[in-house]
Amino acid sequence: MITIDWEKTPLVPAIVQDADTKEVLMLAYMNKEAFEKSRDTGYAHYYSRSRKRLWKKGETSGHTQEIVQMMLDCDGDTLLLLVHQHGVACHTGRKSCFFTDIQSGKTTTDAEVDTTAVYGVVDTLYHTILERKKSDPNTSYTAKLLQGKENGMLKKIVEEAGEFCFAVKDDDEDEIVYECADLTYHVLVALGKKEISPDRIKQELARRFGMSGIEEKNSRDDG
Ligand code: AMP
Ligand code: ZN
Ligand code: ZN
Ligand code: ZN
Repeated sequence: MITIDWEKTPLVPAIVQDADTKEVLMLAYMNKEAFEKSRDTGYAHYYSRSRKRLWKKGETSGHTQEIVQMMLDCDGDTLLLLVHQHGVACHTGRKSCFFTDIQSGKTTTDAEVDTTAVYGVVDTLYHTILERKKSDPNTSYTAKLLQGKENGMLKKIVEEAGEFCFAVKDDDEDEIVYECADLTYHVLVALGKKEISPDRIKQELARRFGMSGIEEKNSRDDG
């Protein structure tokens, strides 16, 4: 039987297909851990290269993939997953990730699902920012920030941080909210520039949160 040589191919591409319609839904990568999780739980798990961690498809959106069959290719370096897709496969709200026609540049399918509702505002905004990397800087402010000089982008963060502080000092609630939104947006642009997903920040905060819990417990045990 053909098996995967994880030493040779630590990240195996997995083509994901709808088990009933045979529509190609997406492509993602599996490391050994993701492969074993998928096999053992019956739900698709991948390795997210941008978030640098194991990812259960649907963990945020609820759009999970129930595995019907997992097939390995002739030389053991590519997987084919036949799945029952709950919700949609693509984070843009479309059934399939393959909706851009290269020749015409046109979008061939419309979103079926409101992505802000399933991913939240921050993650959706981050994805929009990433898309602006390829937009015309004359029509998109985000594109201008991303494609312009890095110092320009960074100056905006400092500027907005200053405005936020003044708003707090002024005790103006509306202004605090407004400036915090400005600051958050500009921080997300810088993260987008560096391709660091807000998920990594959330993980780091959660890690500290968990750690302070342990520290707190230890200090109580000692005392
Ligand atoms: P989900 O697994 O649907 O809860 O999505 C979790 C994260 O994975 C989100 O940040 C999505 O943007 C990303 N994601 C979800 N589906 C895809 C996909 N088909 N291709 C690439 N990234 C995805
Ligand atoms: Zn192959
Ligand atoms: Zn997609
Ligand atoms: Zn501002």
